[in-house]
Amino acid sequence: MEQIVFRGGKLIDGTGKAPVEDVAVRIENGRFKTIGSMNEVTISEKDTIIDTTGKTLIPGLINLHVHLCLEPDEDSQSFCMKESTVAMALRSLKNAQIALTHGVTSVRDLGAKGGVNLEVKRAIEAGWFQGPRIFASGPCITAVGGHGHFIGTEVKGQEQVRRAVRENLEAGADVIKFMASGGLLTSGGEKEMAVLSQAELEAGVDEAHRAGVKTAAHATTADGVRAAVNAGIDTIEHATFLDKKGVRLLKQRGAAVVITLTPPYLIEFMGSDTGIKPEILEKSRGRFSQKLSSFKMLLEEGIPIGVGSDAGTPLNGHHDFAREIELMVQHGGVSPLEAIRSATQLGARLLGWEDRIGTVDEGKLADLVVLSGDPLENIVNLRRIEMVFKNGKRVLL
Ligand SMILES: [Zn+2]
Repeated sequence: MEQIVFRGGKLIDGTGKAPVEDVAVRIENGRFKTIGSMNEVTISEKDTIIDTTGKTLIPGLINLHVHLCLEPDEDSQSFCMKESTVAMALRSLKNAQIALTHGVTSVRDLGAKGGVNLEVKRAIEAGWFQGPRIFASGPCITAVGGHGHFIGTEVKGQEQVRRAVRENLEAGADVIKFMASGGLLTSGGEKEMAVLSQAELEAGVDEAHRAGVKTAAHATTADGVRAAVNAGIDTIEHATFLDKKGVRLLKQRGAAVVITLTPPYLIEFMGSDTGIKPEILEKSRGRFSQKLSSFKMLLEEGIPIGVGSDAGTPLNGHHDFAREIELMVQHGGVSPLEAIRSATQLGARLLGWEDRIGTVDEGKLADLVVLSGDPLENIVNLRRIEMVFKNGKRVLL
């Protein structure tokens, strides 16, 4: 395995600590070996030396909410219903590679037709293809006719929920995804759409947790959030129409929220004349400011806010994770340093991988991004990607 030493530049290590200047970082056997000043980190003949003077080093980014099988510029519901699972797997691989070359070394894929996210994960792990580390849910679990039924398993009753969870676990799922409310992108009224009941969610969470696997629930409505939190879900996805009661519950139960600011932003402000269905445009009106008010409630109460872009929803490309972080900073008032911590260290914690990824720390897997601009000066510099490393291996851009 290659030995690499980065010399010079600024290190933002992902912990939220102030950056360190004139740093040197040694990678050995796919892991961070030593991190220190330029004279602390010695060089040997076998090392590949990379001069990073004037650059900024950050941990590989973690996108906690993606759909690799979905294409951002299409009506996902219709194409999902007609495309084969083989085509979906190939598309997912292509999208996974796009994410990686844009600095995202880990993704959590929360719903794929036929569980193709699990196949793509395995193909990458086997070394067949370059790609990010994928934490995959398999198909999501939803009520009959419920939100996301075109990428999920439709169930009715606690026994069917338990069975669907077990099938996903058997297939190798890293996380189990439930639908606890209606949503923006499935035809039908968001508040009237069929949803999993509290009892069904509880059964599903019980089945997953007994296997030591974390759970995520799509919940946009206040009712959906409450039901999901009460059922013991680990991460609530979206929380668009959050209320005070929901925030109190989140705090009591120690759950986190993956807010996904990008889809309402793009659909509401850039969606007209793009071919997005009028029904969806109508549902999205006022949605971004609604989302921001939920975001601020979470910030005020100190609820952990994980960073996920919901890539694969309309207009929301797999190259564009930086946008989610930009929106947190530019509209949510979060500092760039804190936003980067959320997209790295906190992401790792919510995956249950905080001992392996998420920070530039001795012994951790060497996921690293080299930027030609400083994101603390301007968060848009997160897009100025020069090099990406995953497991200590340089990614071909
Ligand atoms: Zn989603």
